[in-house]
Amino acid sequence: MNETADDNLPRLSEVIERHGLSARKSLGQNFLLDLSLTRRIARTAGTLEGFTVIEVGPGPGGLTRALLLEGADKVVAVERDERALPALDEISAAWPGKLTVMHGDALATDWQAIAGHQPVKIVANLPYNIATPLLTGWLTGHSWPPFWSSLTLMFQKEVAQRICAGVGDSAYGRLSIISQWRSDAVKMFDVSPKAFTPPPKVTSSIVHITPRAEPMVDCDVTVLEKVTAAAFGQRRKMLRSSLKTLGGDPAALITQAGLKPTMRAEEVDVAGFCRLAKAASA
Ligand code: SAM
Repeated sequence: MNETADDNLPRLSEVIERHGLSARKSLGQNFLLDLSLTRRIARTAGTLEGFTVIEVGPGPGGLTRALLLEGADKVVAVERDERALPALDEISAAWPGKLTVMHGDALATDWQAIAGHQPVKIVANLPYNIATPLLTGWLTGHSWPPFWSSLTLMFQKEVAQRICAGVGDSAYGRLSIISQWRSDAVKMFDVSPKAFTPPPKVTSSIVHITPRAEPMVDCDVTVLEKVTAAAFGQRRKMLRSSLKTLGGDPAALITQAGLKPTMRAEEVDVAGFCRLAKAASA
């Protein structure tokens, strides 16, 4: 494992030992100690020069150090575990003015306020228990293009497949539609459980998401979420039946969206769901 770096900071295993950062399952703590891997993740976000990078859950700082080494203008990192703060202070001291660490809960963080008007990329090895709510929060903002230029995030492989799946894939569902109706989502590479300390039970994957200027079909995201929840909530039923939970006349909605009432949720592509949402808001 390559724990050495050009930043002259101590090895991550030594940092963890010295600061007593025994991993806590409740905080989704699976640390990456291999700096060549964290630098590869940082490079997946594209150029970091000219960008403030927001990181969720820096922990002992393996990815944080990589983001700084790969040229981020600034890193703002939000960490819930106060035990990690002294370790992160050492990185701040080695990179004066470049790293701001905020102690807090990512789920209660106002990202837009942190971003301000600077160009921002979000890069994180997310705690798995809050990965999906964080992602959907970033994807469902009402103003578009969003405050972020890209999201480069680690998920459980199975979640990454759901984010990137297309119609016809077994993983295709609500998360695919919310991720793709106005963004491009690509699964970049898998990361073996062996890369983490401690190793999780499952393989992980890095996903890279970039916003498109315009949605596939313009629609209201709240309605899109309702329509996909209704359709995939009963995914084996035909739309004419599953969409009854929306109230009104599902047949009229389906026809207006150019779909067949006998189609099932898994047969409707992302644009089809956007048309359904548009029809439902009319
Ligand atoms: N970035 C580090 C790395 O790659 O080695 C640690 C990643 S670890 C999978 C997830 C990190 O998120 C931990 O440091 C954990 O303490 C932190 N975390 C968990 N829940 C959090 C929350 N609600 N808000 C902010 N950080 C959180």
